[in-house]
Amino acid sequence: MVSDSVAGMSTAFADDWPVAADRQGRLFVISGPSGVGKGTVVRRVLELDSTLYYSVSAKTRAPRPGEVNGREYWFVSEEQFDGMIDRGELLEYASMFGHRSGTPARPVELQRIQGIDVLLEIDVQGARQIRERVPDAVLIFLEPPSQEELIRRLKARGTEHGADLERRLQRVDAEMAEAERFDHRVVNDEVDRAALEVMAILERYGHTA
Ligand code: 5GP
Repeated sequence: MVSDSVAGMSTAFADDWPVAADRQGRLFVISGPSGVGKGTVVRRVLELDSTLYYSVSAKTRAPRPGEVNGREYWFVSEEQFDGMIDRGELLEYASMFGHRSGTPARPVELQRIQGIDVLLEIDVQGARQIRERVPDAVLIFLEPPSQEELIRRLKARGTEHGADLERRLQRVDAEMAEAERFDHRVVNDEVDRAALEVMAILERYGHTA
């Protein structure tokens, strides 16, 4: 049940807050326009690097076929999401295409305190909030080889249709314009190459796979 999972999410770390490590873990953020392939590149990075902690977001939409609660996302109701906001449990959150997504703050903090580097995959609105709240976070913008290619990928992936697809297409310009706020830009021309470039950036900040 969703409510049980939410309870599990918020209490899973309650009992044993750890002793701080010498080096605090860094927060790395991968963001970019809808349809650029953030999820695919992040999955590849996580396959290559098991030392990174991937932050599982809370989401108010229904799971898609194959998605597992607690793995891709914590699927919560709008009311549960409101509760998380009210209690200050989210490090950032944003509305997108008829639902909301947010990063639970406590698991991120728990990992960082132990010296473990954390990876977020969030939209550009969330990345802005992280820039303000976590000044030493490293922000990576994943961009398409061209805007035309992004539009082609959005149409081809077939997960959105009609009005939803139209809304995403309309946001392409605004999302692409966010690139200049980021510390690094990586072109997602080829998944393996882009994943290796992301890993090279992480290493520059002292991350070791
Ligand atoms: P989808 O619903 O297609 O899985 O994801 C849609 C968008 O939600 C993607 O652009 C993804 O980066 C974004 N997203 C996923 N989790 C979060 C989150 O915790 N915060 C924010 N701001 N965006 C998120």
